[in-house]
Amino acid sequence: MCLQSFQGKGYSSAFIAAVKKILSVLNNNYHGKIISITHQCDDVCKHCPKRVNHQCEEEQEIMKLDAYFAKIFQLYAGDVTSMFEIQKATKKQLCPKEFGKICGNCRWFKICNKHWNSISPARMDE
Ligand code: SF4
Repeated sequence: MCLQSFQGKGYSSAFIAAVKKILSVLNNNYHGKIISITHQCDDVCKHCPKRVNHQCEEEQEIMKLDAYFAKIFQLYAGDVTSMFEIQKATKKQLCPKEFGKICGNCRWFKICNKHWNSISPARMDE
C-alpha cells in the first residue's frame, strides 16, 4: 500500500532512493510474480531509519496494518504475487472508508489519501 501511494516523500533520502529503486523494478516487471509477501521487515524497510535490529520501532502498529491489508487482499506470508495483481486487488477491494479506517493514524495518511482521491474519485463517494 505504501509503495502504491508513494509520492517521493519519506523518512530519509536513503529511504526515498531505495523506494524509488524498488518501484522501478516492480513497474518494469509489472506482471512478474516477483513480490514475496512477508510479515517481517522487508526490502522497503531496509533503509528506513525506524528499523532497529531488524525490527520496526512501530512494530505493533505496523503488524496491525499488515494484518488488515492481508485480510483484504487475502495475501499471507509466503505468497508470491505481482504489482499488477496487487493493484487489481486494491482497485477492486479497497474502499476509501476502509483505507481511512486502516491508515488514518499514519503520519503519511494525508498524502496517501490525496493520492487515492485523485486516482479514484468515483470510489470516494462509496
Ligand atoms: S497511510 Fe501510511 S501505512 Fe497507509 S499506505 Fe500511506 S504510508 Fe502506508
